[in-house]
Amino acid sequence: MGPLSRRGLLLGGLTLAGGGFLAGGLGLDEAWAIDGPTIISCDGWGSRRNRGVLPVYDRRPVKILVHHTATPNAKVTTRDAAVRLARSIQNFHMDRRGWPDTGQHFTVSRGGIVLEGRHRSLEFVRVGRWQVEGAHCTGQNVVAIGIENEGTYTAVNPPGVLWEKLRSLCAYLCGQYRIRPTQIFGHRDFKDTACPGDKLYAALPRLRSEVAGLLGQKLKKATVDPVAWPLLRIADRGQRVLAAQHLLRAAGVPGIVPDGRFTRELADAVRAFQAERGFGRDDPDLDSGDGPNGMIGGETWPALARPVRAGEGGEAQRAVEVLLRGRNKPVPDVVTPEIWQRLLTP
Ligand SMILES: [Zn+2]
Repeated sequence: MGPLSRRGLLLGGLTLAGGGFLAGGLGLDEAWAIDGPTIISCDGWGSRRNRGVLPVYDRRPVKILVHHTATPNAKVTTRDAAVRLARSIQNFHMDRRGWPDTGQHFTVSRGGIVLEGRHRSLEFVRVGRWQVEGAHCTGQNVVAIGIENEGTYTAVNPPGVLWEKLRSLCAYLCGQYRIRPTQIFGHRDFKDTACPGDKLYAALPRLRSEVAGLLGQKLKKATVDPVAWPLLRIADRGQRVLAAQHLLRAAGVPGIVPDGRFTRELADAVRAFQAERGFGRDDPDLDSGDGPNGMIGGETWPALARPVRAGEGGEAQRAVEVLLRGRNKPVPDVVTPEIWQRLLTP
Protein backbone atom coordinates (compact mmCIF):
# COMPACT_ATOMS: atom_id res chain seq x y z
CA MET A 1 0.00 0.00 0.00
CA GLY A 2 1.53 3.32 -1.08
CA PRO A 3 1.52 6.49 1.00
CA LEU A 4 -1.32 8.01 -1.02
CA SER A 5 -3.83 5.22 -0.44
CA ARG A 6 -2.81 5.03 3.21
CA ARG A 7 -3.63 8.67 3.54
CA GLY A 8 -6.93 8.15 1.80
CA LEU A 9 -7.88 5.39 4.23
CA LEU A 10 -6.91 7.49 7.22
CA LEU A 11 -9.03 10.40 6.03
CA GLY A 12 -11.90 8.03 5.42
CA GLY A 13 -11.59 6.74 8.96
CA LEU A 14 -11.56 10.25 10.41
CA THR A 15 -14.60 11.27 8.45
CA LEU A 16 -16.52 8.30 9.77
CA ALA A 17 -15.39 8.87 13.33
CA GLY A 18 -16.33 12.55 13.06
CA GLY A 19 -19.80 11.72 11.79
CA GLY A 20 -20.39 9.24 14.60
CA PHE A 21 -19.30 11.75 17.21
CA LEU A 22 -21.50 14.52 15.89
CA ALA A 23 -24.50 12.23 15.77
CA GLY A 24 -23.93 11.19 19.37
CA GLY A 25 -24.07 7.59 18.23
CA LEU A 26 -27.85 7.87 17.75
CA GLY A 27 -27.98 9.12 14.20
CA LEU A 28 -29.63 12.31 15.51
CA ASP A 29 -28.09 14.50 12.82
CA GLU A 30 -29.71 12.56 10.05
CA ALA A 31 -33.05 12.32 11.80
CA TRP A 32 -33.23 15.95 12.93
CA ALA A 33 -31.81 17.94 10.05
CA ILE A 34 -34.61 19.74 8.21
CA ASP A 35 -34.94 22.69 5.87
CA GLY A 36 -35.64 25.93 7.65
CA PRO A 37 -37.50 29.03 6.52
CA THR A 38 -35.89 31.59 4.25
CA ILE A 39 -33.79 33.82 6.50
CA ILE A 40 -32.62 37.27 5.40
CA SER A 41 -29.04 37.76 6.57
CA CYS A 42 -27.73 40.98 8.13
CA ASP A 43 -26.13 41.87 4.79
CA GLY A 44 -29.38 41.01 3.05
CA TRP A 45 -31.35 43.61 4.99
CA GLY A 46 -28.53 46.15 5.12
CA SER A 47 -27.87 46.08 8.84
CA ARG A 48 -25.28 48.40 10.41
CA ARG A 49 -21.91 46.87 11.14
CA ASN A 50 -21.46 45.65 14.67
CA ARG A 51 -19.05 47.46 16.95
CA GLY A 52 -15.91 45.56 17.90
CA VAL A 53 -15.62 41.79 17.92
CA LEU A 54 -18.66 39.77 18.96
CA PRO A 55 -17.79 36.95 21.39
CA VAL A 56 -18.10 33.51 19.80
CA TYR A 57 -18.18 30.23 21.70
CA ASP A 58 -17.26 26.85 20.34
CA ARG A 59 -20.32 25.09 21.70
CA ARG A 60 -23.90 24.57 20.75
CA PRO A 61 -26.70 26.56 22.35
CA VAL A 62 -29.04 24.31 24.35
CA LYS A 63 -32.18 26.46 24.50
CA ILE A 64 -34.36 28.78 22.48
CA LEU A 65 -35.93 31.85 24.09
CA VAL A 66 -39.07 33.34 22.59
CA HIS A 67 -39.68 37.10 22.91
CA HIS A 68 -42.21 39.59 21.62
CA THR A 69 -40.98 43.02 20.56
CA ALA A 70 -43.75 44.75 22.59
CA THR A 71 -44.41 46.97 19.56
CA PRO A 72 -47.84 47.56 17.99
CA ASN A 73 -49.48 44.69 16.11
CA ALA A 74 -48.80 46.31 12.75
CA LYS A 75 -51.06 45.60 9.79
CA VAL A 76 -48.30 46.17 7.24
CA THR A 77 -46.61 42.84 6.67
CA THR A 78 -44.23 43.53 3.77
CA ARG A 79 -40.52 42.80 3.56
CA ASP A 80 -39.83 46.55 3.81
CA ALA A 81 -41.77 46.70 7.07
CA ALA A 82 -39.76 43.76 8.43
CA VAL A 83 -36.49 45.48 7.51
CA ARG A 84 -37.66 48.72 9.15
CA LEU A 85 -38.40 46.74 12.32
CA ALA A 86 -35.00 45.01 12.28
CA ARG A 87 -33.32 48.38 11.80
CA SER A 88 -35.23 50.06 14.61
CA ILE A 89 -34.36 47.22 16.99
CA GLN A 90 -30.71 47.41 16.02
CA ASN A 91 -30.67 51.19 16.52
CA PHE A 92 -32.38 50.80 19.91
CA HIS A 93 -29.92 48.14 21.05
CA MET A 94 -26.80 49.89 19.76
CA ASP A 95 -27.67 53.51 20.51
CA ARG A 96 -29.86 53.27 23.60
CA ARG A 97 -28.66 50.05 25.22
CA GLY A 98 -25.06 50.60 24.12
CA TRP A 99 -24.71 47.04 22.82
CA PRO A 100 -22.32 46.17 19.99
CA ASP A 101 -25.12 44.89 17.73
CA THR A 102 -28.74 43.68 17.74
CA GLY A 103 -29.35 41.66 20.92
CA GLN A 104 -31.42 38.77 19.60
CA HIS A 105 -30.17 36.22 17.10
CA PHE A 106 -33.29 36.24 14.91
CA THR A 107 -36.39 38.33 14.28
CA VAL A 108 -39.73 37.19 12.87
CA SER A 109 -42.06 39.87 11.48
CA ARG A 110 -45.85 39.81 11.54
CA GLY A 111 -45.67 39.10 7.85
CA GLY A 112 -43.68 35.93 8.56
CA ILE A 113 -40.38 37.36 7.32
CA VAL A 114 -37.41 35.90 9.19
CA LEU A 115 -34.29 38.04 9.57
CA GLU A 116 -30.92 37.54 11.16
CA GLY A 117 -30.52 39.81 14.19
CA ARG A 118 -26.99 39.62 15.50
CA HIS A 119 -24.22 39.20 12.93
CA ARG A 120 -22.84 35.67 12.52
CA SER A 121 -25.96 34.01 13.99
CA LEU A 122 -26.97 32.59 10.62
CA GLU A 123 -23.48 31.57 9.57
CA PHE A 124 -23.09 29.40 12.68
CA VAL A 125 -26.58 27.89 12.56
CA ARG A 126 -25.91 26.82 8.99
CA VAL A 127 -23.00 24.65 10.17
CA GLY A 128 -24.65 23.64 13.46
CA ARG A 129 -21.67 24.63 15.50
CA TRP A 130 -20.55 27.69 17.49
CA GLN A 131 -22.70 30.40 18.98
CA VAL A 132 -22.31 34.15 18.88
CA GLU A 133 -23.15 35.62 22.27
CA GLY A 134 -26.50 37.39 22.23
CA ALA A 135 -27.94 40.16 24.40
CA HIS A 136 -31.56 39.14 24.84
CA CYS A 137 -31.72 37.73 28.37
CA THR A 138 -28.99 38.22 30.95
CA GLY A 139 -27.70 34.86 32.14
CA GLN A 140 -28.93 33.03 29.03
CA ASN A 141 -27.00 34.79 26.28
CA VAL A 142 -24.34 32.15 25.78
CA VAL A 143 -26.62 29.13 26.10
CA ALA A 144 -29.80 30.26 24.36
CA ILE A 145 -30.76 31.50 20.92
CA GLY A 146 -33.07 34.52 21.19
CA ILE A 147 -35.94 35.10 18.79
CA GLU A 148 -37.87 38.40 18.77
CA ASN A 149 -41.37 38.13 17.34
CA GLU A 150 -42.88 41.36 16.12
CA GLY A 151 -45.94 42.49 18.07
CA THR A 152 -47.51 42.43 21.52
CA TYR A 153 -49.14 39.13 22.43
CA THR A 154 -50.64 40.03 25.78
CA ALA A 155 -54.25 39.75 24.65
CA VAL A 156 -54.11 38.37 21.10
CA ASN A 157 -52.42 35.45 19.40
CA PRO A 158 -49.70 35.98 16.80
CA PRO A 159 -50.92 35.83 13.19
CA GLY A 160 -50.82 32.41 11.56
CA VAL A 161 -48.03 33.33 9.17
CA LEU A 162 -45.78 34.46 12.05
CA TRP A 163 -46.56 31.29 13.98
CA GLU A 164 -45.74 29.12 11.01
CA LYS A 165 -42.35 30.77 10.47
CA LEU A 166 -41.52 30.80 14.18
CA ARG A 167 -42.28 27.09 14.32
CA SER A 168 -40.22 26.39 11.24
CA LEU A 169 -37.30 28.52 12.52
CA CYS A 170 -37.36 26.75 15.90
CA ALA A 171 -37.42 23.34 14.23
CA TYR A 172 -34.51 24.35 12.01
CA LEU A 173 -32.50 25.61 15.02
CA CYS A 174 -33.29 22.43 16.97
CA GLY A 175 -32.22 20.31 14.03
CA GLN A 176 -28.99 22.17 13.32
CA TYR A 177 -27.92 22.47 16.96
CA ARG A 178 -29.70 19.37 18.28
CA ILE A 179 -31.61 21.44 20.80
CA ARG A 180 -34.46 19.48 22.39
CA PRO A 181 -37.86 20.99 21.48
CA THR A 182 -38.68 20.85 25.20
CA GLN A 183 -35.98 23.48 25.68
CA ILE A 184 -38.02 26.25 24.10
CA PHE A 185 -38.82 28.88 26.74
CA GLY A 186 -40.28 32.34 27.13
CA HIS A 187 -38.32 35.37 28.27
CA ARG A 188 -40.44 35.45 31.45
CA ASP A 189 -39.14 32.02 32.48
CA PHE A 190 -35.88 33.77 33.35
CA LYS A 191 -36.83 37.41 33.92
CA ASP A 192 -39.53 39.53 35.55
CA THR A 193 -41.22 40.47 32.32
CA ALA A 194 -44.56 40.03 30.58
CA CYS A 195 -42.61 39.00 27.44
CA PRO A 196 -43.54 37.15 25.22
CA GLY A 197 -47.10 38.11 26.26
CA ASP A 198 -49.65 35.89 28.00
CA LYS A 199 -51.04 34.54 24.72
CA LEU A 200 -47.75 33.63 23.08
CA TYR A 201 -46.43 32.30 26.38
CA ALA A 202 -49.50 30.09 26.75
CA ALA A 203 -48.86 28.79 23.23
CA LEU A 204 -45.34 27.55 24.06
CA PRO A 205 -46.48 23.98 24.90
CA ARG A 206 -48.08 23.84 21.44
CA LEU A 207 -44.89 25.28 19.91
CA ARG A 208 -42.74 22.61 21.59
CA SER A 209 -45.08 19.91 20.43
CA GLU A 210 -45.35 21.19 16.85
CA VAL A 211 -41.58 21.71 16.57
CA ALA A 212 -41.09 18.15 17.76
CA GLY A 213 -43.61 17.05 15.15
CA LEU A 214 -41.64 18.77 12.38
CA LEU A 215 -38.59 16.84 13.60
CA GLY A 216 -40.47 13.56 13.61
CA GLN A 217 -40.63 13.33 17.39
CA LYS A 218 -43.49 12.93 19.83
CA LEU A 219 -43.24 14.52 23.27
CA LYS A 220 -44.86 13.58 26.58
CA LYS A 221 -47.30 16.06 28.10
CA ALA A 222 -45.05 16.68 31.12
CA THR A 223 -42.16 17.79 28.93
CA VAL A 224 -44.32 19.80 26.54
CA ASP A 225 -45.77 21.78 29.45
CA PRO A 226 -43.18 21.83 32.25
CA VAL A 227 -43.82 23.55 35.57
CA ALA A 228 -42.44 27.06 35.64
CA TRP A 229 -42.47 30.19 37.80
CA PRO A 230 -45.76 32.05 37.46
CA LEU A 231 -45.80 35.74 36.58
CA LEU A 232 -47.51 37.93 39.19
CA ARG A 233 -48.28 41.61 38.62
CA ILE A 234 -50.60 44.47 39.53
CA ALA A 235 -54.29 43.48 39.88
CA ASP A 236 -53.48 39.81 40.56
CA ARG A 237 -54.86 38.41 43.77
CA GLY A 238 -55.12 35.16 45.67
CA GLN A 239 -52.95 32.56 47.33
CA ARG A 240 -49.92 32.98 45.10
CA VAL A 241 -49.80 36.71 45.78
CA LEU A 242 -50.22 35.99 49.49
CA ALA A 243 -47.37 33.46 49.36
CA ALA A 244 -45.17 36.01 47.58
CA GLN A 245 -45.99 38.57 50.25
CA HIS A 246 -44.88 36.18 52.99
CA LEU A 247 -41.68 35.45 51.06
CA LEU A 248 -40.99 39.17 50.65
CA ARG A 249 -41.45 39.56 54.41
CA ALA A 250 -39.09 36.61 54.92
CA ALA A 251 -36.56 38.43 52.72
CA GLY A 252 -36.85 41.48 54.99
CA VAL A 253 -38.69 43.75 52.57
CA PRO A 254 -40.40 46.42 54.71
CA GLY A 255 -44.05 47.48 54.57
CA ILE A 256 -45.55 44.30 53.11
CA VAL A 257 -49.12 43.59 54.26
CA PRO A 258 -50.02 39.93 53.59
CA ASP A 259 -53.47 40.41 52.10
CA GLY A 260 -53.23 38.51 48.80
CA ARG A 261 -53.64 41.66 46.67
CA PHE A 262 -51.06 42.86 44.17
CA THR A 263 -51.42 46.60 44.54
CA ARG A 264 -49.31 49.46 43.20
CA GLU A 265 -47.68 49.71 46.64
CA LEU A 266 -46.71 46.05 46.46
CA ALA A 267 -45.22 46.59 42.99
CA ASP A 268 -43.19 49.51 44.38
CA ALA A 269 -41.85 47.33 47.18
CA VAL A 270 -40.97 44.56 44.71
CA ARG A 271 -39.28 47.10 42.43
CA ALA A 272 -37.11 48.30 45.33
CA PHE A 273 -36.19 44.68 46.13
CA GLN A 274 -35.28 44.10 42.46
CA ALA A 275 -33.29 47.35 42.14
CA GLU A 276 -31.24 46.42 45.20
CA ARG A 277 -30.24 43.18 43.48
CA GLY A 278 -29.64 44.69 40.07
CA PHE A 279 -32.55 42.80 38.48
CA GLY A 280 -34.50 43.92 35.43
CA ARG A 281 -31.81 45.70 33.47
CA ASP A 282 -30.95 45.29 29.80
CA ASP A 283 -34.34 44.31 28.46
CA PRO A 284 -34.06 43.76 24.70
CA ASP A 285 -37.77 44.18 23.96
CA LEU A 286 -38.78 47.56 22.56
CA ASP A 287 -41.15 49.73 24.62
CA SER A 288 -40.61 47.68 27.76
CA GLY A 289 -38.83 50.36 29.75
CA ASP A 290 -35.61 50.43 31.71
CA GLY A 291 -34.91 48.87 35.06
CA PRO A 292 -37.09 46.67 37.27
CA ASN A 293 -40.83 46.77 36.70
CA GLY A 294 -42.17 45.31 39.96
CA MET A 295 -43.55 42.10 38.41
CA ILE A 296 -42.63 38.84 40.11
CA GLY A 297 -41.39 36.43 37.45
CA GLY A 298 -38.51 34.21 36.46
CA GLU A 299 -35.81 36.35 38.05
CA THR A 300 -37.42 37.38 41.35
CA TRP A 301 -39.04 34.03 42.25
CA PRO A 302 -35.71 32.16 42.55
CA ALA A 303 -34.44 34.96 44.81
CA LEU A 304 -37.50 34.71 47.05
CA ALA A 305 -38.33 31.01 47.03
CA ARG A 306 -35.42 29.72 49.08
CA PRO A 307 -35.42 26.16 50.51
CA VAL A 308 -37.71 25.81 53.54
CA ARG A 309 -37.44 22.98 56.07
CA ALA A 310 -40.61 21.55 57.59
CA GLY A 311 -41.22 23.05 61.02
CA GLU A 312 -38.70 25.88 60.71
CA GLY A 313 -41.47 28.43 61.30
CA GLY A 314 -41.46 32.03 60.19
CA GLU A 315 -42.74 33.83 57.12
CA ALA A 316 -41.29 31.44 54.51
CA GLN A 317 -43.05 28.50 56.10
CA ARG A 318 -46.25 30.54 56.18
CA ALA A 319 -45.89 30.92 52.40
CA VAL A 320 -45.69 27.13 52.06
CA GLU A 321 -48.78 26.69 54.25
CA VAL A 322 -50.73 29.20 52.16
CA LEU A 323 -49.97 27.23 48.99
CA LEU A 324 -50.74 23.85 50.59
CA ARG A 325 -54.10 25.08 51.93
CA GLY A 326 -56.96 22.96 50.60
CA ARG A 327 -54.64 20.70 48.64
CA ASN A 328 -54.63 17.72 50.96
CA LYS A 329 -50.91 17.19 50.41
CA PRO A 330 -48.29 16.43 53.08
CA VAL A 331 -45.81 19.14 54.02
CA PRO A 332 -42.52 18.36 52.21
CA ASP A 333 -39.43 17.90 54.41
CA VAL A 334 -37.62 20.51 52.35
CA VAL A 335 -39.32 22.79 49.85
CA THR A 336 -36.81 22.97 47.00
CA PRO A 337 -37.14 25.38 44.06
CA GLU A 338 -38.78 22.60 42.02
CA ILE A 339 -41.33 21.99 44.77
CA TRP A 340 -41.95 25.75 45.02
CA GLN A 341 -42.72 25.78 41.32
CA ARG A 342 -45.16 22.92 41.71
CA LEU A 343 -46.81 24.54 44.73
CA LEU A 344 -47.17 27.78 42.76
CA THR A 345 -48.88 26.00 39.86
CA PRO A 346 -52.64 26.20 40.36
ZN1 LIG B 1 -38.35 39.43 25.76
